[in-house]
Amino acid sequence: MAITIKNDNQIAIMRAAGKIHARILNELEELITPGISAKELDIIAEQKVRAAGAEPSFLGYSPDRHTPKYPASLCVSINDVIVHGIPTNDMIIKDGDIVSIDLGLKYKNMFTDSARTVIVGNVSKEKAQLVHDTREALALGIAAAQPGNTVGDIGHAIESFNNKRYGNVKELSGHGVGLAVHEDPYVPNYGKAGAGATLKPGMIIAIEPMFNLGTSNVKFHNDGYTVTTADKQVSAHVEHTVLITENGSEILTEL
Ligand code: MG
Ligand code: MG
Repeated sequence: MAITIKNDNQIAIMRAAGKIHARILNELEELITPGISAKELDIIAEQKVRAAGAEPSFLGYSPDRHTPKYPASLCVSINDVIVHGIPTNDMIIKDGDIVSIDLGLKYKNMFTDSARTVIVGNVSKEKAQLVHDTREALALGIAAAQPGNTVGDIGHAIESFNNKRYGNVKELSGHGVGLAVHEDPYVPNYGKAGAGATLKPGMIIAIEPMFNLGTSNVKFHNDGYTVTTADKQVSAHVEHTVLITENGSEILTEL
């Protein structure tokens, strides 16, 4: 699929969707406390999405015809799970965990995508710093998302900030979003300044750095979704849906 430029009507819908998205993630974040299960979070997420007049876009989604349909509304990725953790009843949140929640929303036929990593109770200094720095990497990636800049500038900003302090996941990336769950272009978390597609006003992309405390090596699990760190060290993941504007960018998935 070619890179799409969204029109004013589509942008208005995505702005509204992004506010709903951010509010739901805020509410879910409050619920992430020791004892709650990933499945409970998923059920609540679906209820909140539907109550807002939207649909959970990950539920029943498949990236290709060989992969089974995703069975939940939310991805819940705890500790060494990088992304796409399938929520189950036996995944119980504990003190000291870091938990990524990733939600996809479909609202009036437009799609938004956003994730947070939440710190649960008392976590080690290293884990807290990892989460802080992954959030900072997202902010810097967004700052590089300017009209006239390229996709490579975003990856370069994220990778330069990482500066080999953390494993920087290469096998997974951000992406265009809006008319579908995933659109072109790929938005990797590494790259050369000035390389790749040029960003233009009206483009909407999901930027989503994933940093690991250990190496960048990942393991893909045979459920078709779960991705963990190969060395079982913890990983953080944060994501916003971002509109390229005439003079900069606008984070759609925040209040
Ligand atoms: Mg996502
Ligand atoms: Mg995404």
